[in-house]
Amino acid sequence: MSETYRTPDSTGVPESAGEREQAVRARQLDAADPLAAIRDRFTLDDTVYLDGNSLGALPRAVPGRIAEVIGREWGELRIRSWTESGWWTAPERVGDKIAPLIGAAPGRVVVGDSTSVNIFKAVVGGVRMAGKGCTEILVDAATFPTDGYIARSAARMTGLAVRPVEPARIADEVTERTALALVNHVDYRTGELNDLPGITRALHSAGALAVWDLCHSAGALPVGLDAHHVDLAVGCTYKYLNGGPGSPAYLYVRESLQERFESPLPGWNSHADPFAMDPAYTPADGAVRGRVGTPDILSLLALEAALEAWDGVAIEDVRAKSLALTDFFLECVGAYVPPGRVRSVTPADHRRRGSQVSLACSGAGAVMEELIRRGVVGDFRRPDVLRFGFTPLYTSFAEAERAAWTLGEVLGALPEGEPGAAG
Ligand SMILES: *Cc1c(COP(=O)(O)O)cnc(C)c1O
Repeated sequence: MSETYRTPDSTGVPESAGEREQAVRARQLDAADPLAAIRDRFTLDDTVYLDGNSLGALPRAVPGRIAEVIGREWGELRIRSWTESGWWTAPERVGDKIAPLIGAAPGRVVVGDSTSVNIFKAVVGGVRMAGKGCTEILVDAATFPTDGYIARSAARMTGLAVRPVEPARIADEVTERTALALVNHVDYRTGELNDLPGITRALHSAGALAVWDLCHSAGALPVGLDAHHVDLAVGCTYKYLNGGPGSPAYLYVRESLQERFESPLPGWNSHADPFAMDPAYTPADGAVRGRVGTPDILSLLALEAALEAWDGVAIEDVRAKSLALTDFFLECVGAYVPPGRVRSVTPADHRRRGSQVSLACSGAGAVMEELIRRGVVGDFRRPDVLRFGFTPLYTSFAEAERAAWTLGEVLGALPEGEPGAAG
């Protein structure tokens, strides 16, 4: 754990009489935070925004860039922009900008389509590369639902079975008949971080491919796709990458597999020579092979501008701050929330924690509604989970403290056992 986020003995920040001890510590932590200035790259207000794991805040660079794309590139250059403004090559170019954040070399990531669609490409493409005798796909038993739905359909189409397995059990459950496992790097509900290097190694030793969904880890912690020899990976860009509502997702294919990767959606954008308009399909080399049809340029270029918020930011520093923020939030919850009212379902162990804190709480739906009314925005996941996402690029320690204090006040005011707003 980095020294940076240890509370210094004295920072010269004066303590006002009667101030909460944790509020003073929060100010000291913010004063010493090397990422504190990055917050200015975002449009924020007095709301404590802890839902960046669902929709990241707006980076300041986006509105001006989008105005330019619409006014100049679309409005004036029109069709010329496909070449002159670099629209045609944007999926690979933006992929190369995401690549360092997930530990990938250039040429391995392509941006386009939704995460759900990229899961389909990765799973079917993975099955097509797997050994002949394979009969099954393993799917993270706690997966975000779309991954499971798509994997089941992909399995049906390829004649394989789907077997749900808890990530911690994959090493024991994988067999020589397993084509691949589709695993969420961080569990969207509990915030648990799965062991990507260990699970990938276990899959490889049984001859299976590792397909990772990075939706809740990319932009929050180091992933190391190349270093850990991950085969295929997908992720969305509107969570910790702040690309905006519905911004396009990405697909990663390991370099040594790119030549064998056969997309189940071989649209003309993935052709070796798209403008030859050849009735016969010849796939392009490299990441381009993951493209399908015409990219949605406005969303893609908004994402590209959003990624400027990462200039000069090391993902290791983001991880250090993320752990410090979630530790501090949990400490404040312990200090402020009446005993027994919440239970953290997020692992305490740093090696198993993503960048969110999930608290099981009776009546969680009503509690979250009240928190939002009081300016603390997290979200509610049925049946009983309060989710608080911590985006190290813009969340401060003072906000973590205020969120915990407000939660304590809301729970102190609500009688115990109050039924939730929703089941
Ligand atoms: C957010 C999320 C998705 C979203 O998929 P879309 O196709 O973008 O709607 C998929 N998988 C996981 C694990 C997620 O967290």
